[in-house]
Amino acid sequence: MLKYLVILLNDNSVSYCHYNNKNVSNMMSLDTLKSGILFAMKNDLKIQYVLPECDLPSDYIDLIESMFHDNIGPLKQSKNSEIIVANSFDELVSNIDMLDSNKRYLVRTTIADFFNEYGLMKDLFKKDINANIVFTDVENFTDDEIDKYSAVLDDLKQSLIDSIRNGHNVNTNLITDRIALEEMNNCGAGETNITLAPNGCFYPCPAFYYSKEQYYELGNINDGLRILNKELYKLDHSPLCKRCDAYHCKRCVWLNKKLTCEINIPSRQQCLMAHIERNTSKIILDDFHKQNLLKEKNISKIDYLDPFEVYNNI
Ligand code: SF4
Repeated sequence: MLKYLVILLNDNSVSYCHYNNKNVSNMMSLDTLKSGILFAMKNDLKIQYVLPECDLPSDYIDLIESMFHDNIGPLKQSKNSEIIVANSFDELVSNIDMLDSNKRYLVRTTIADFFNEYGLMKDLFKKDINANIVFTDVENFTDDEIDKYSAVLDDLKQSLIDSIRNGHNVNTNLITDRIALEEMNNCGAGETNITLAPNGCFYPCPAFYYSKEQYYELGNINDGLRILNKELYKLDHSPLCKRCDAYHCKRCVWLNKKLTCEINIPSRQQCLMAHIERNTSKIILDDFHKQNLLKEKNISKIDYLDPFEVYNNI
């Protein structure tokens, strides 16, 4: 069931996920914005705006403020955004003194940069700053990186546990989200949320807008939403994911399409990374259990990193 309408205000609105945005400005028209807000009202959807770096004209701001919403924006729009995106650890940490522990930060990074710079997360933990990580090159993760990713997350885990013991209220999606979850909590593109792009068309998420695949244009704001093969976005139509317990995994349908050519079939890269994160979460939870915390939560021990290996043996 749809719950959110993501409104991409400009082609150069900040990217908050695996895809890259465009550098050129192409603002959504005021009429399209008005129609988008009306669509959200009629369908009882919560709006999430994706902001560009530049300040919005006052007539846009007045419209946006007319209905409850959240903003996802770049660091330059921090004061107007609930979720703030940095395009590297450097960009975030160089602004550390202006970061707000009541906001949620998101760092987009390559896997190689994460390996080199993840230590900066420890500085964020000390300031009670919570940052989620999104990888911009999941396709580059190979089996050769399994040990390295496990070791890096293990180090991060210890730092997080120490920070919590020292009274800091910190978390990060890679290693703590899974602890809180009892069921799948994926991105939901095309299922729980839909994106309205500057051209007035709907897409499962901004990534499909930028990749310009006609098939994933899901109607438009004038003629209405038209989701082709809508079942394929749902968990119960993904044979691997519906048996999986890496509940925090984004289950990114755009990455699925890009790497396996099927919207409902994940790539090995996505599964490996999510399971290494899941297993690190288990170690953190085991530590909490030793301190008599979160006893009601459980993450089981498993002997695989890619559910396809299990599925293959059924
Ligand atoms: S880890 Fe793989 S199988 Fe599990 S939810 Fe993520 S993409 Fe699906």
